[in-house]
Amino acid sequence: MNKSQRIALVTGGGRGIGKAIALELSRSFASVAINYLHDKESAEKTVELITKAGGIAKAFQADVTKQDDVEKLFNAVVTEFGKVDILVNNAGTVKDSLIVRMDVEDFDEILNVHLRGTFLCTKLALRSMIKNRWGRVINIGSVVGIAGNVGQANYTAAKAAGIGLTKTVAKEVATRGITVNCIAPGFITTDIVKNLTPEFTQKILDHIAMGRFGEPEEVARLAAFIASEESGYITGQTISIDGGLVLG
Ligand code: NDP
Repeated sequence: MNKSQRIALVTGGGRGIGKAIALELSRSFASVAINYLHDKESAEKTVELITKAGGIAKAFQADVTKQDDVEKLFNAVVTEFGKVDILVNNAGTVKDSLIVRMDVEDFDEILNVHLRGTFLCTKLALRSMIKNRWGRVINIGSVVGIAGNVGQANYTAAKAAGIGLTKTVAKEVATRGITVNCIAPGFITTDIVKNLTPEFTQKILDHIAMGRFGEPEEVARLAAFIASEESGYITGQTISIDGGLVLG
């Protein structure tokens, strides 16, 4: 497929896993809209990297938890690129603590970013995809949404709900040439993981069969495959990429 034939929107695409996915999609076959929340500099740098490599990209600010922002985001992307073929719901953050100490505000915030954000973006992306009878929705989940994790009641609930949302939307749009899948990474070396204490880092590594963290580029290559023409018969799936952390 020609470069730039597909249009991808990656939420939280300026840094971390989102950045790696944006770069990989631009290399493979897509023009990329990169959404960010606060970090304009990182988003612009990612755009520059793509442009210098001969790809097409543009940065768009929006808070995925806000309906108005998401509507403006999609209007701006469609005005710039004409459509959205591939949506990667990647934006996310954590607010960890044991449930007995977790503020309701922190619970709501994490549910809003991961679940409400995914709902709002997916709803709008589907307009364009249904019209064009082709689409790929990729939700970035987490293996802790499958296995649970101490200190992450909010995050694991949001990620587990994302798996249900993936399956339902996959069923609703399957006959329109649209696939909806979830990628569930284990521990990947982004800012989230880099900020862990050395003791906690070692504790996690002891549980990963491969004995190492994953790289954002490894997640990106999986995302690029799911976004490709070749993956058209895969839908409603949650695909783990965790070096053997959660098995069975
Ligand atoms: P980073 O902290 O590196 O990046 C998070 C991105 O999300 C940033 O670009 C940030 O924008 C954006 N973002 C946060 N809140 C919002 C919002 N309300 N609206 C729009 N954008 C927002 O995280 P990772 O790359 O590590 O994580 C990416 C995804 O992968 C998340 O969904 C995370 O849960 C998931 N994941 C990560 C794992 C890991 O080990 N790293 C493991 C499993 C899943 P800005 O740059 O403007 O701040």
